[in-house]
Amino acid sequence: GFSRYSTATALEEEPIKPAVQVEHTQLLIGGKFVDALSGKTFPTLDPRTGEVIAHVAEGHSEDVDRAVAAARKAFDQGPWPKMTAYERQRILLRAADLLEKHNDELAALETWDNGKPYEQSAQIEIPMLVRLFRYYAGWADKIHGMTVPADGQYHVQTLHEPIGVAGQIIPWNFPLLMFAWKVGPALACGNTIVLKTAEQTPLSALYAAKLFHEAGLPEGVLNVVSGFGPTAGAALASHMDVDKLAFTGSTDTGKVVLELAARSNLKPVTLELGGKSPFIVCEDADVDQAVELAHFALFFNQGQCCCAGSRTYVHEHVYDEFVEKAKARALKRIVGDPFKSGIEQGPQIDSEQFEKILKYIRSGVQSGATLETGGDRLGSKGFYVQPTVFSNVEDGMLIAKEEIFGPVQSILKFKDLDEVIERANNTRYGLAAGVFTKNIDTANTLTRALRVGTVWVNCFDTFDAAIPFGGYKMSGQGREKGEYSLKNYLQVKAVRYV
Ligand code: NAD
Repeated sequence: GFSRYSTATALEEEPIKPAVQVEHTQLLIGGKFVDALSGKTFPTLDPRTGEVIAHVAEGHSEDVDRAVAAARKAFDQGPWPKMTAYERQRILLRAADLLEKHNDELAALETWDNGKPYEQSAQIEIPMLVRLFRYYAGWADKIHGMTVPADGQYHVQTLHEPIGVAGQIIPWNFPLLMFAWKVGPALACGNTIVLKTAEQTPLSALYAAKLFHEAGLPEGVLNVVSGFGPTAGAALASHMDVDKLAFTGSTDTGKVVLELAARSNLKPVTLELGGKSPFIVCEDADVDQAVELAHFALFFNQGQCCCAGSRTYVHEHVYDEFVEKAKARALKRIVGDPFKSGIEQGPQIDSEQFEKILKYIRSGVQSGATLETGGDRLGSKGFYVQPTVFSNVEDGMLIAKEEIFGPVQSILKFKDLDEVIERANNTRYGLAAGVFTKNIDTANTLTRALRVGTVWVNCFDTFDAAIPFGGYKMSGQGREKGEYSLKNYLQVKAVRYV
Protein backbone atom coordinates (compact mmCIF):
# COMPACT_ATOMS: atom_id res chain seq x y z
CA GLY A 1 0.00 0.00 0.00
CA PHE A 2 0.86 3.70 0.03
CA SER A 3 2.51 5.32 2.97
CA ARG A 4 0.94 8.48 4.30
CA TYR A 5 3.31 10.63 2.26
CA SER A 6 3.19 8.81 -1.04
CA THR A 7 -0.60 9.01 -0.72
CA ALA A 8 -0.36 12.79 -0.57
CA THR A 9 1.68 12.75 -3.76
CA ALA A 10 -0.82 10.44 -5.44
CA LEU A 11 -3.58 12.94 -4.61
CA GLU A 12 -1.90 15.55 -6.81
CA GLU A 13 -2.56 13.41 -9.89
CA GLU A 14 -5.57 14.06 -12.14
CA PRO A 15 -8.70 12.52 -10.58
CA ILE A 16 -10.06 9.41 -12.31
CA LYS A 17 -13.05 10.07 -14.58
CA PRO A 18 -16.17 8.27 -13.26
CA ALA A 19 -17.65 5.71 -15.68
CA VAL A 20 -21.10 7.29 -15.56
CA GLN A 21 -22.85 10.39 -16.83
CA VAL A 22 -25.17 12.57 -14.80
CA GLU A 23 -28.55 12.03 -16.47
CA HIS A 24 -30.96 13.48 -13.93
CA THR A 25 -30.68 16.87 -12.28
CA GLN A 26 -34.33 17.95 -12.16
CA LEU A 27 -36.94 17.36 -9.47
CA LEU A 28 -39.01 14.18 -9.82
CA ILE A 29 -42.65 15.13 -9.27
CA GLY A 30 -45.70 13.16 -10.35
CA GLY A 31 -43.55 10.73 -12.32
CA LYS A 32 -41.88 13.46 -14.41
CA PHE A 33 -38.59 15.28 -14.20
CA VAL A 34 -39.29 19.01 -13.91
CA ASP A 35 -37.39 22.21 -13.19
CA ALA A 36 -37.91 24.09 -9.93
CA LEU A 37 -40.70 26.66 -10.34
CA SER A 38 -38.21 29.43 -9.58
CA GLY A 39 -35.86 28.07 -12.25
CA LYS A 40 -33.08 28.05 -9.65
CA THR A 41 -30.31 25.48 -9.52
CA PHE A 42 -27.44 24.74 -7.15
CA PRO A 43 -24.09 23.07 -7.82
CA THR A 44 -23.22 19.66 -6.44
CA LEU A 45 -19.47 19.22 -5.97
CA ASP A 46 -16.89 16.49 -6.41
CA PRO A 47 -15.29 16.09 -2.93
CA ARG A 48 -12.03 14.99 -4.58
CA THR A 49 -11.47 18.44 -6.07
CA GLY A 50 -14.27 20.76 -4.99
CA GLU A 51 -15.21 21.13 -8.67
CA VAL A 52 -18.81 21.21 -9.90
CA ILE A 53 -20.25 17.88 -11.07
CA ALA A 54 -23.63 19.25 -12.12
CA HIS A 55 -26.18 21.96 -11.45
CA VAL A 56 -29.28 20.54 -9.83
CA ALA A 57 -32.80 21.99 -9.63
CA GLU A 58 -33.26 23.73 -6.29
CA GLY A 59 -36.64 22.91 -4.79
CA HIS A 60 -38.36 25.48 -2.59
CA SER A 61 -41.65 25.44 -0.70
CA GLU A 62 -43.72 25.86 -3.86
CA ASP A 63 -42.03 22.77 -5.33
CA VAL A 64 -42.64 20.86 -2.10
CA ASP A 65 -46.31 21.90 -2.43
CA ARG A 66 -46.41 20.46 -5.94
CA ALA A 67 -44.72 17.24 -4.83
CA VAL A 68 -47.03 16.82 -1.84
CA ALA A 69 -50.06 17.44 -4.07
CA ALA A 70 -48.82 14.72 -6.44
CA ALA A 71 -48.28 12.32 -3.53
CA ARG A 72 -51.68 13.19 -2.04
CA LYS A 73 -53.41 12.52 -5.35
CA ALA A 74 -51.56 9.25 -5.79
CA PHE A 75 -52.60 8.23 -2.29
CA ASP A 76 -56.24 9.38 -2.41
CA GLN A 77 -57.07 8.54 -6.01
CA GLY A 78 -54.24 6.51 -7.41
CA PRO A 79 -53.98 2.80 -7.69
CA TRP A 80 -51.11 2.38 -5.24
CA PRO A 81 -52.74 1.98 -1.81
CA LYS A 82 -55.62 0.08 -3.38
CA MET A 83 -53.51 -2.35 -5.37
CA THR A 84 -53.25 -5.85 -4.07
CA ALA A 85 -50.27 -6.29 -1.82
CA TYR A 86 -48.99 -8.87 -4.26
CA GLU A 87 -48.93 -6.30 -7.08
CA ARG A 88 -47.03 -3.85 -4.90
CA GLN A 89 -44.61 -6.60 -4.02
CA ARG A 90 -44.01 -7.38 -7.70
CA ILE A 91 -43.15 -3.73 -8.40
CA LEU A 92 -40.71 -3.59 -5.47
CA LEU A 93 -39.05 -6.79 -6.65
CA ARG A 94 -38.76 -5.47 -10.20
CA ALA A 95 -37.25 -2.26 -8.84
CA ALA A 96 -34.72 -4.28 -6.84
CA ASP A 97 -33.78 -6.19 -10.01
CA LEU A 98 -33.24 -2.90 -11.88
CA LEU A 99 -31.16 -1.45 -9.04
CA GLU A 100 -29.05 -4.61 -9.18
CA LYS A 101 -28.70 -4.36 -12.95
CA HIS A 102 -27.51 -0.76 -12.61
CA ASN A 103 -25.20 -1.53 -9.68
CA ASP A 104 -22.13 0.01 -11.28
CA GLU A 105 -23.77 3.25 -12.47
CA LEU A 106 -25.39 3.78 -9.07
CA ALA A 107 -22.09 3.05 -7.32
CA ALA A 108 -20.20 5.47 -9.56
CA LEU A 109 -22.72 8.28 -8.97
CA GLU A 110 -22.62 7.63 -5.23
CA THR A 111 -18.83 7.79 -5.13
CA TRP A 112 -18.61 10.81 -7.39
CA ASP A 113 -21.08 12.86 -5.35
CA ASN A 114 -20.04 11.59 -1.89
CA GLY A 115 -16.36 10.65 -2.15
CA LYS A 116 -16.64 7.18 -0.61
CA PRO A 117 -14.47 4.41 -2.08
CA TYR A 118 -16.01 3.00 -5.27
CA GLU A 119 -15.36 -0.57 -4.16
CA GLN A 120 -17.35 0.11 -0.99
CA SER A 121 -20.22 1.54 -3.07
CA ALA A 122 -20.19 -1.21 -5.69
CA GLN A 123 -19.51 -4.24 -3.52
CA ILE A 124 -21.23 -3.36 -0.24
CA GLU A 125 -23.68 -0.49 -0.42
CA ILE A 126 -25.54 -1.06 -3.69
CA PRO A 127 -25.92 -4.82 -2.98
CA MET A 128 -27.27 -3.83 0.45
CA LEU A 129 -29.69 -1.41 -1.20
CA VAL A 130 -30.99 -4.23 -3.40
CA ARG A 131 -31.26 -6.54 -0.39
CA LEU A 132 -33.25 -3.89 1.52
CA PHE A 133 -35.84 -3.57 -1.25
CA ARG A 134 -36.17 -7.35 -1.60
CA TYR A 135 -36.63 -7.55 2.16
CA TYR A 136 -39.39 -4.91 2.12
CA ALA A 137 -41.00 -6.50 -0.92
CA GLY A 138 -41.26 -9.60 1.25
CA TRP A 139 -43.23 -7.65 3.84
CA ALA A 140 -45.67 -6.10 1.37
CA ASP A 141 -48.07 -9.06 1.45
CA LYS A 142 -47.55 -9.96 5.12
CA ILE A 143 -48.97 -6.84 6.73
CA HIS A 144 -52.25 -7.56 8.46
CA GLY A 145 -54.18 -6.74 11.58
CA MET A 146 -55.59 -8.91 14.35
CA THR A 147 -58.82 -10.28 15.65
CA VAL A 148 -59.16 -9.17 19.25
CA PRO A 149 -61.32 -11.02 21.78
CA ALA A 150 -63.79 -8.53 23.31
CA ASP A 151 -66.59 -8.65 25.83
CA GLY A 152 -70.02 -9.95 25.05
CA GLN A 153 -71.47 -9.48 21.64
CA TYR A 154 -68.56 -7.60 20.00
CA HIS A 155 -66.31 -8.99 17.40
CA VAL A 156 -63.25 -6.74 16.96
CA GLN A 157 -60.75 -6.50 14.13
CA THR A 158 -57.79 -4.22 13.68
CA LEU A 159 -57.00 -3.04 10.16
CA HIS A 160 -53.42 -1.94 9.44
CA GLU A 161 -53.69 0.83 6.88
CA PRO A 162 -51.05 3.00 5.22
CA ILE A 163 -50.68 6.32 6.99
CA GLY A 164 -50.81 8.48 3.84
CA VAL A 165 -48.20 10.89 2.45
CA ALA A 166 -44.78 10.35 4.03
CA GLY A 167 -42.24 13.20 4.08
CA GLN A 168 -38.68 11.92 4.30
CA ILE A 169 -35.48 13.93 4.80
CA ILE A 170 -32.14 12.19 4.39
CA PRO A 171 -28.45 13.04 4.94
CA TRP A 172 -25.40 12.78 2.70
CA ASN A 173 -23.26 10.10 4.37
CA PHE A 174 -25.09 7.08 2.88
CA PRO A 175 -27.39 8.67 0.30
CA LEU A 176 -28.76 5.49 -1.25
CA LEU A 177 -28.92 3.40 1.92
CA MET A 178 -30.81 6.18 3.67
CA PHE A 179 -33.11 6.33 0.63
CA ALA A 180 -33.79 2.60 1.08
CA TRP A 181 -34.29 2.74 4.85
CA LYS A 182 -36.95 5.40 4.30
CA VAL A 183 -38.59 4.44 1.02
CA GLY A 184 -38.63 0.66 1.54
CA PRO A 185 -41.01 0.38 4.50
CA ALA A 186 -43.16 3.31 3.33
CA LEU A 187 -43.82 1.66 -0.04
CA ALA A 188 -44.26 -1.84 1.40
CA CYS A 189 -47.08 -0.46 3.57
CA GLY A 190 -48.77 1.33 0.63
CA ASN A 191 -47.87 4.96 1.39
CA THR A 192 -46.85 7.68 -1.05
CA ILE A 193 -43.68 9.72 -0.56
CA VAL A 194 -41.98 13.08 -0.92
CA LEU A 195 -38.27 12.59 -0.26
CA LYS A 196 -35.82 15.44 0.20
CA THR A 197 -32.23 14.46 -0.46
CA ALA A 198 -29.23 16.16 1.16
CA GLU A 199 -27.95 19.18 -0.78
CA GLN A 200 -24.44 17.65 -0.88
CA THR A 201 -25.60 14.41 -2.57
CA PRO A 202 -28.68 14.83 -4.75
CA LEU A 203 -27.70 12.64 -7.71
CA SER A 204 -28.04 8.95 -6.85
CA ALA A 205 -31.59 9.10 -5.43
CA LEU A 206 -32.86 10.69 -8.67
CA TYR A 207 -31.35 7.83 -10.66
CA ALA A 208 -32.76 5.20 -8.27
CA ALA A 209 -36.22 6.78 -8.22
CA LYS A 210 -36.30 6.73 -12.02
CA LEU A 211 -35.67 2.97 -11.90
CA PHE A 212 -38.70 2.57 -9.61
CA HIS A 213 -40.82 4.18 -12.30
CA GLU A 214 -39.35 1.86 -14.91
CA ALA A 215 -40.36 -0.99 -12.61
CA GLY A 216 -43.99 0.15 -12.81
CA LEU A 217 -44.37 2.38 -9.77
CA PRO A 218 -47.40 4.60 -10.52
CA GLU A 219 -46.68 8.30 -10.97
CA GLY A 220 -46.86 10.45 -7.85
CA VAL A 221 -46.04 7.59 -5.47
CA LEU A 222 -42.37 8.51 -5.09
CA ASN A 223 -41.43 12.17 -5.53
CA VAL A 224 -37.87 13.40 -5.04
CA VAL A 225 -37.12 17.06 -4.28
CA SER A 226 -33.53 18.26 -4.21
CA GLY A 227 -32.84 21.38 -2.21
CA PHE A 228 -31.66 22.87 1.07
CA GLY A 229 -32.79 22.17 4.61
CA PRO A 230 -34.16 25.50 5.81
CA THR A 231 -36.20 25.91 2.59
CA ALA A 232 -37.28 22.59 1.03
CA GLY A 233 -36.71 20.51 4.19
CA ALA A 234 -38.56 22.88 6.49
CA ALA A 235 -41.44 23.16 3.99
CA LEU A 236 -41.82 19.38 4.04
CA ALA A 237 -41.58 19.06 7.83
CA SER A 238 -44.22 21.74 8.36
CA HIS A 239 -46.57 20.75 5.52
CA MET A 240 -50.19 20.35 6.56
CA ASP A 241 -50.80 17.63 4.00
CA VAL A 242 -47.87 15.42 4.99
CA ASP A 243 -49.11 12.68 7.32
CA LYS A 244 -45.80 11.36 8.61
CA LEU A 245 -42.21 12.58 8.77
CA ALA A 246 -38.99 10.56 8.88
CA PHE A 247 -35.67 12.32 9.34
CA THR A 248 -32.00 11.31 9.52
CA GLY A 249 -29.31 13.86 10.28
CA SER A 250 -27.92 15.90 13.13
CA THR A 251 -29.55 16.12 16.55
CA ASP A 252 -29.92 19.90 16.24
CA THR A 253 -31.84 19.63 12.99
CA GLY A 254 -33.85 16.75 14.46
CA LYS A 255 -35.13 19.13 17.12
CA VAL A 256 -36.06 21.68 14.46
CA VAL A 257 -38.07 19.25 12.34
CA LEU A 258 -39.81 17.78 15.39
CA GLU A 259 -40.91 21.26 16.34
CA LEU A 260 -42.04 22.07 12.78
CA ALA A 261 -44.06 18.87 12.73
CA ALA A 262 -45.63 19.65 16.09
CA ARG A 263 -46.48 23.25 15.19
CA SER A 264 -48.11 22.31 11.90
CA ASN A 265 -50.32 19.22 11.96
CA LEU A 266 -48.78 17.05 14.72
CA LYS A 267 -47.59 14.53 12.17
CA PRO A 268 -45.77 11.62 13.85
CA VAL A 269 -41.97 11.80 13.46
CA THR A 270 -39.20 9.22 13.46
CA LEU A 271 -35.69 10.52 14.03
CA GLU A 272 -32.27 8.97 13.43
CA LEU A 273 -29.76 11.41 14.87
CA GLY A 274 -26.17 11.70 15.97
CA GLY A 275 -24.05 9.55 18.23
CA LYS A 276 -20.81 9.30 20.17
CA SER A 277 -20.60 5.56 20.37
CA PRO A 278 -18.18 3.83 22.76
CA PHE A 279 -16.05 0.95 21.53
CA ILE A 280 -14.91 -0.95 24.65
CA VAL A 281 -11.77 -3.09 24.50
CA CYS A 282 -11.64 -5.37 27.55
CA GLU A 283 -8.58 -6.69 29.34
CA ASP A 284 -8.87 -10.18 27.81
CA ALA A 285 -9.06 -8.93 24.20
CA ASP A 286 -6.72 -10.08 21.47
CA VAL A 287 -5.12 -6.69 20.92
CA ASP A 288 -4.35 -7.10 17.21
CA GLN A 289 -7.93 -8.02 16.44
CA ALA A 290 -9.26 -5.27 18.71
CA VAL A 291 -7.09 -2.65 16.99
CA GLU A 292 -8.31 -3.71 13.56
CA LEU A 293 -11.97 -3.65 14.55
CA ALA A 294 -11.74 -0.37 16.49
CA HIS A 295 -9.99 1.14 13.46
CA PHE A 296 -12.80 0.01 11.18
CA ALA A 297 -15.46 1.14 13.69
CA LEU A 298 -14.13 4.70 13.54
CA PHE A 299 -12.60 5.17 10.10
CA PHE A 300 -15.22 3.42 7.95
CA ASN A 301 -16.84 5.82 5.46
CA GLN A 302 -14.23 8.53 6.26
CA GLY A 303 -15.54 8.53 9.84
CA GLN A 304 -18.86 9.87 8.57
CA CYS A 305 -21.15 7.40 10.33
CA CYS A 306 -23.75 8.31 12.90
CA CYS A 307 -22.80 5.13 14.79
CA ALA A 308 -19.00 5.54 14.44
CA GLY A 309 -17.09 4.04 17.39
CA SER A 310 -15.74 7.45 18.26
CA ARG A 311 -14.78 6.83 21.89
CA THR A 312 -12.32 3.94 21.98
CA TYR A 313 -12.17 2.82 25.66
CA VAL A 314 -9.23 0.49 26.28
CA HIS A 315 -8.44 -1.39 29.49
CA GLU A 316 -5.32 -0.06 31.23
CA HIS A 317 -3.51 -3.42 31.02
CA VAL A 318 -3.55 -3.42 27.23
CA TYR A 319 -3.68 0.36 26.70
CA ASP A 320 -0.08 1.11 25.70
CA GLU A 321 0.16 -1.81 23.30
CA PHE A 322 -3.22 -0.84 21.82
CA VAL A 323 -2.21 2.79 21.26
CA GLU A 324 1.06 1.81 19.52
CA LYS A 325 -0.75 -0.60 17.21
CA ALA A 326 -3.69 1.75 16.55
CA LYS A 327 -1.22 4.41 15.47
CA ALA A 328 0.61 1.95 13.20
CA ARG A 329 -2.70 0.87 11.66
CA ALA A 330 -3.78 4.46 10.98
CA LEU A 331 -0.41 5.19 9.37
CA LYS A 332 -1.00 2.29 6.98
CA ARG A 333 -4.48 3.43 6.00
CA ILE A 334 -4.69 3.89 2.25
CA VAL A 335 -6.14 7.29 1.43
CA GLY A 336 -6.64 8.43 -2.11
CA ASP A 337 -8.89 8.92 -5.12
CA PRO A 338 -11.93 6.81 -4.21
CA PHE A 339 -12.20 5.53 -7.77
CA LYS A 340 -8.81 3.83 -7.43
CA SER A 341 -8.74 0.16 -6.48
CA GLY A 342 -7.63 -0.71 -2.94
CA ILE A 343 -8.47 2.71 -1.48
CA GLU A 344 -9.72 2.63 2.12
CA GLN A 345 -10.47 6.31 2.56
CA GLY A 346 -11.58 9.04 0.20
CA PRO A 347 -12.22 12.74 0.84
CA GLN A 348 -14.68 14.16 3.37
CA ILE A 349 -17.99 15.32 1.94
CA ASP A 350 -17.41 19.08 1.70
CA SER A 351 -15.36 22.04 2.87
CA GLU A 352 -17.68 22.68 5.81
CA GLN A 353 -17.20 19.20 7.29
CA PHE A 354 -13.49 19.29 6.39
CA GLU A 355 -12.96 22.56 8.29
CA LYS A 356 -15.04 21.34 11.20
CA ILE A 357 -12.89 18.20 11.53
CA LEU A 358 -9.64 20.18 11.44
CA LYS A 359 -11.08 22.46 14.12
CA TYR A 360 -11.83 19.46 16.35
CA ILE A 361 -8.28 18.20 15.80
CA ARG A 362 -6.89 21.56 16.93
CA SER A 363 -9.17 21.47 19.95
CA GLY A 364 -7.88 17.96 20.83
CA VAL A 365 -4.29 19.22 20.75
CA GLN A 366 -5.15 22.34 22.76
CA SER A 367 -6.98 20.37 25.42
CA GLY A 368 -3.89 18.22 26.04
CA ALA A 369 -4.66 14.93 24.26
CA THR A 370 -1.61 13.28 22.64
CA LEU A 371 -1.66 13.47 18.85
CA GLU A 372 -0.16 10.09 17.88
CA THR A 373 -0.46 10.51 14.13
CA GLY A 374 -2.24 12.58 11.48
CA GLY A 375 -3.77 15.91 12.37
CA ASP A 376 -3.74 17.73 9.03
CA ARG A 377 -5.14 17.77 5.53
CA LEU A 378 -3.77 15.48 2.83
CA GLY A 379 -2.81 16.84 -0.55
CA SER A 380 -3.59 20.38 -1.62
CA LYS A 381 -7.01 20.01 -3.24
CA GLY A 382 -10.30 18.42 -2.28
CA PHE A 383 -11.28 17.48 1.24
CA TYR A 384 -8.84 14.75 2.27
CA VAL A 385 -7.93 14.44 5.97
CA GLN A 386 -5.04 12.40 7.40
CA PRO A 387 -6.12 9.41 9.47
CA THR A 388 -5.72 10.85 12.95
CA VAL A 389 -5.26 9.14 16.32
CA PHE A 390 -5.35 10.78 19.76
CA SER A 391 -4.34 8.99 22.95
CA ASN A 392 -4.68 10.18 26.56
CA VAL A 393 -8.11 11.51 25.77
CA GLU A 394 -10.26 12.51 28.76
CA ASP A 395 -14.06 12.30 28.89
CA GLY A 396 -14.46 16.06 29.34
CA MET A 397 -12.58 17.02 26.14
CA LEU A 398 -14.66 18.22 23.18
CA ILE A 399 -13.22 15.46 20.97
CA ALA A 400 -14.66 12.89 23.42
CA LYS A 401 -18.02 14.61 23.75
CA GLU A 402 -19.06 15.89 20.35
CA GLU A 403 -19.66 14.18 17.04
CA ILE A 404 -16.60 14.89 14.84
CA PHE A 405 -17.86 12.96 11.80
CA GLY A 406 -14.34 12.49 10.48
CA PRO A 407 -11.28 10.18 10.57
CA VAL A 408 -10.25 11.05 14.12
CA GLN A 409 -9.88 8.26 16.68
CA SER A 410 -9.92 9.16 20.39
CA ILE A 411 -8.46 6.53 22.72
CA LEU A 412 -9.38 6.63 26.41
CA LYS A 413 -8.13 4.46 29.30
CA PHE A 414 -10.31 2.58 31.82
CA LYS A 415 -9.73 0.37 34.88
CA ASP A 416 -12.85 -1.70 35.48
CA LEU A 417 -16.25 -2.55 34.05
CA ASP A 418 -18.38 -0.48 36.41
CA GLU A 419 -16.30 2.56 35.61
CA VAL A 420 -16.43 2.09 31.85
CA ILE A 421 -20.18 1.47 31.92
CA GLU A 422 -20.73 4.73 33.75
CA ARG A 423 -18.43 6.67 31.46
CA ALA A 424 -19.79 5.08 28.28
CA ASN A 425 -23.34 6.00 29.32
CA ASN A 426 -22.41 9.50 30.41
CA THR A 427 -23.49 11.14 27.16
CA ARG A 428 -26.69 12.54 25.73
CA TYR A 429 -26.36 10.14 22.84
CA GLY A 430 -27.33 6.46 22.80
CA LEU A 431 -27.03 5.15 19.27
CA ALA A 432 -24.60 2.22 19.37
CA ALA A 433 -21.69 0.59 21.18
CA GLY A 434 -18.99 -1.95 20.45
CA VAL A 435 -17.77 -4.51 22.98
CA PHE A 436 -14.59 -6.48 22.47
CA THR A 437 -14.06 -9.43 24.85
CA LYS A 438 -13.71 -13.22 24.93
CA ASN A 439 -15.65 -13.45 28.18
CA ILE A 440 -19.37 -14.15 27.86
CA ASP A 441 -20.11 -12.77 31.33
CA THR A 442 -18.40 -9.50 30.51
CA ALA A 443 -20.27 -9.34 27.19
CA ASN A 444 -23.61 -9.97 28.93
CA THR A 445 -22.93 -7.36 31.61
CA LEU A 446 -22.00 -4.71 29.05
CA THR A 447 -24.76 -5.40 26.52
CA ARG A 448 -27.39 -5.03 29.23
CA ALA A 449 -25.88 -2.00 30.92
CA LEU A 450 -25.20 0.15 27.86
CA ARG A 451 -28.06 2.55 27.07
CA VAL A 452 -27.88 2.32 23.27
CA GLY A 453 -29.98 1.05 20.38
CA THR A 454 -27.37 -1.38 18.99
CA VAL A 455 -24.55 -3.27 20.70
CA TRP A 456 -22.03 -5.03 18.49
CA VAL A 457 -20.08 -7.73 20.34
CA ASN A 458 -16.76 -8.60 18.67
CA CYS A 459 -18.02 -7.03 15.45
CA PHE A 460 -19.03 -3.52 14.33
CA ASP A 461 -21.09 -1.87 11.61
CA THR A 462 -22.63 -5.16 10.53
CA PHE A 463 -26.00 -4.24 9.07
CA ASP A 464 -28.86 -6.30 7.83
CA ALA A 465 -32.24 -5.31 6.43
CA ALA A 466 -34.01 -7.40 9.09
CA ILE A 467 -32.27 -5.89 12.13
CA PRO A 468 -33.77 -2.75 13.71
CA PHE A 469 -31.61 0.36 14.09
CA GLY A 470 -32.20 3.51 16.11
CA GLY A 471 -31.21 5.48 19.15
CA TYR A 472 -31.83 5.83 22.84
CA LYS A 473 -31.79 9.31 24.36
CA MET A 474 -30.90 12.17 21.97
CA SER A 475 -29.83 9.77 19.21
CA GLY A 476 -33.37 9.45 18.01
CA GLN A 477 -36.92 8.25 18.24
CA GLY A 478 -38.26 5.03 16.78
CA ARG A 479 -36.56 2.24 14.89
CA GLU A 480 -35.85 1.77 11.21
CA LYS A 481 -35.25 -1.48 9.30
CA GLY A 482 -36.68 -4.83 10.21
CA GLU A 483 -40.28 -5.50 11.16
CA TYR A 484 -40.13 -2.63 13.66
CA SER A 485 -39.93 -0.08 10.84
CA LEU A 486 -43.35 -0.99 9.47
CA LYS A 487 -45.30 0.51 12.31
CA ASN A 488 -43.87 3.93 11.46
CA TYR A 489 -45.88 3.78 8.25
CA LEU A 490 -49.15 2.21 9.40
CA GLN A 491 -52.31 3.44 11.05
CA VAL A 492 -54.31 1.00 13.15
CA LYS A 493 -58.06 1.10 12.79
CA ALA A 494 -60.24 -0.82 15.26
CA VAL A 495 -63.49 -2.11 13.81
CA ARG A 496 -66.21 -3.46 16.11
CA TYR A 497 -69.06 -5.58 14.92
CA VAL A 498 -72.07 -6.41 17.03
P1 NAD B 1 -28.22 18.14 8.87
O1 NAD B 1 -28.99 17.56 9.99
O2 NAD B 1 -28.14 19.62 8.79
O3 NAD B 1 -28.83 17.64 7.47
C1 NAD B 1 -29.55 16.44 7.30
C2 NAD B 1 -30.73 16.69 6.38
O4 NAD B 1 -31.61 17.63 7.01
C3 NAD B 1 -30.35 17.31 5.03
O5 NAD B 1 -31.21 16.78 4.03
C4 NAD B 1 -30.64 18.78 5.25
O6 NAD B 1 -30.91 19.47 4.06
C5 NAD B 1 -31.86 18.72 6.13
N1 NAD B 1 -32.08 19.92 6.92
C6 NAD B 1 -31.16 20.80 7.40
N2 NAD B 1 -31.77 21.82 8.04
C7 NAD B 1 -33.11 21.58 7.98
C8 NAD B 1 -34.26 22.27 8.47
N3 NAD B 1 -34.17 23.43 9.13
N4 NAD B 1 -35.48 21.74 8.23
C9 NAD B 1 -35.60 20.57 7.56
N5 NAD B 1 -34.54 19.88 7.06
C10 NAD B 1 -33.31 20.37 7.28
O7 NAD B 1 -26.81 17.53 8.87
P2 NAD B 1 -25.52 18.08 8.05
O8 NAD B 1 -25.44 19.56 8.04
O9 NAD B 1 -25.54 17.42 6.75
O10 NAD B 1 -24.38 17.53 8.96
C11 NAD B 1 -24.12 18.15 10.20
C12 NAD B 1 -23.83 17.11 11.25
O11 NAD B 1 -24.93 16.19 11.33
C13 NAD B 1 -22.66 16.23 10.93
O12 NAD B 1 -21.46 16.81 11.30
C14 NAD B 1 -22.97 15.03 11.76
O13 NAD B 1 -22.58 15.25 13.07
C15 NAD B 1 -24.46 14.96 11.71
N6 NAD B 1 -24.94 13.96 10.74
C16 NAD B 1 -25.52 12.85 11.22
C17 NAD B 1 -25.98 11.89 10.35
C18 NAD B 1 -26.62 10.65 10.83
O14 NAD B 1 -26.72 9.70 10.08
N7 NAD B 1 -27.09 10.58 12.05
C19 NAD B 1 -25.86 12.07 9.00
C20 NAD B 1 -25.28 13.25 8.51
C21 NAD B 1 -24.84 14.19 9.41
